[in-house]
Amino acid sequence: MTMNYLSTRNKDLRMTAPQAIAQGLSPDGGLLTPAVLPRLPASAVETMREMSYQQRVVYIMNSFLEGFAASELTAYAAEAYGGGKFTHEDVAPVRKLDENTHCLELWHGPTCAFKDMALQILPHLLTASLEKNDEKKTVCILVATSGDTGKAALEGFRNVDKTKILVFYPKDGVSEIQELQMVTQEGGNVGVCSVVGNFDDAQTGVKKLFADEELAAELAERGYFLSSANSINWGRVLPQIVYYASAYCDLLKTGAISKGQQINVCVPTGNFGNILAAYYAKCMGIPINRLICASNANNVLTDFIHTGTYDRNRTFYNTISPSMDILISSNLERMLFELSGRDDRLVREYMAQLAEYGSYRVDSSIRTKLKKEFIAGCCDDTQTQGMIAKMWNEQSYLIDPHTAVAFHVLEEYRQESGDDTATVVVSTASPFKFCSSVLTALGVEQQWTGTDILDQLSTHTGVAVPAPLARLKKRRRRFSGVVEKSGMKGCVLDLLK
Ligand SMILES: *Cc1c(COP(=O)(O)O)cnc(C)c1O
Repeated sequence: MTMNYLSTRNKDLRMTAPQAIAQGLSPDGGLLTPAVLPRLPASAVETMREMSYQQRVVYIMNSFLEGFAASELTAYAAEAYGGGKFTHEDVAPVRKLDENTHCLELWHGPTCAFKDMALQILPHLLTASLEKNDEKKTVCILVATSGDTGKAALEGFRNVDKTKILVFYPKDGVSEIQELQMVTQEGGNVGVCSVVGNFDDAQTGVKKLFADEELAAELAERGYFLSSANSINWGRVLPQIVYYASAYCDLLKTGAISKGQQINVCVPTGNFGNILAAYYAKCMGIPINRLICASNANNVLTDFIHTGTYDRNRTFYNTISPSMDILISSNLERMLFELSGRDDRLVREYMAQLAEYGSYRVDSSIRTKLKKEFIAGCCDDTQTQGMIAKMWNEQSYLIDPHTAVAFHVLEEYRQESGDDTATVVVSTASPFKFCSSVLTALGVEQQWTGTDILDQLSTHTGVAVPAPLARLKKRRRRFSGVVEKSGMKGCVLDLLK
């Protein structure tokens, strides 16, 4: 197997695809990235046009995963996206709103957020990688979550052989629906525990567990090792490239665009993983022009794209689009690597400045490229709510707050630029995951509690509750553990008896 993955901080550090997926992060702190980005053949879009989503997965991922047979990938795609796991037969359907606006719905999976697109297939890629690397121990995935990732990871790893998963969430930091989704999780290899404090407490606690050598030694004796499933793992970025190619093929198929026609994409962005996948799809040859990066009040990326200075030294806001409440967008490092012409020395320098000062300024060549590839915009909670109401009143389309941020930024961009390029807006969560904010946006102030709020939003709009959320009502609470940060180690040792 060729060592065809490298570190963004050291191009001489090489790994195979299974090593890159099993490791998650490079030992030098860099992100593992393909040594060469494969170009799709000229006929690719024509070929994929008639394929199912699962076939498109194999077609795209195959060229990145030396050491994996197409037959293996076919089996993983079938398990991840077939068998009724996604409630829409297209898996990632494109909904037409008007002549040049289309919405790519990425929330028809088992947890109703776009994290499912990658976390349904990652466990298969990871366990296969461990086998190819001849790893004998069982992996235990540790996750600290602010909501969407934890549930998607639990559902992805549920009952997957040779894996365990333990999720920590902040006691007071997730929505009621999100908490219910996690504490009712089924599966024989899962654990869920809440931590007193906020998301930072949970995350710092998990980082400490990863660094605890005594714990590692004890677990090794029991036949386990710890790993992570966070969004910098290449195995999470790769499956996301597929839906951009897929959306393009679908637009072509329905006649919304003609062969070779360029589109824009507009992505509600936090950690920069989703929009990075769009950039890679473009590099591979999918005709994408502008990448529109939409942020909420935590607009560190908007400023970066406009000015070339990344500065995390600013107020952190808790918004109604919480999955985008982020001041350090980890996957941006891969973007810097590409835009600098793969200059690992420069990336190392910027990341060192970020660690030391919380800021860095990119050189003029990168600034120029950033502005050519990206458009950036942001909005506050009031504007987000305004857009939810507007989409509902004018288009009868119910959207969640994250998606609303994207629509707001697109609307402003179009007004300012007059650019009427056909655009795919990426919808990242079902509105039913954020019932309270959506009802408030629609002017409903008296709100029902618990899972009843799902019915309230459904009754008010006539839109059906997604099946995975409707099922929550009948689910038994399995997990009730609450620990102090100091008790997290005990949770791990209990699960991995
Ligand atoms: C995670 C998430 C995002 C942000 O995606 P990134 O890949 O981190 O940029 C946006 N919306 C929702 C609903 C999410 O769960």
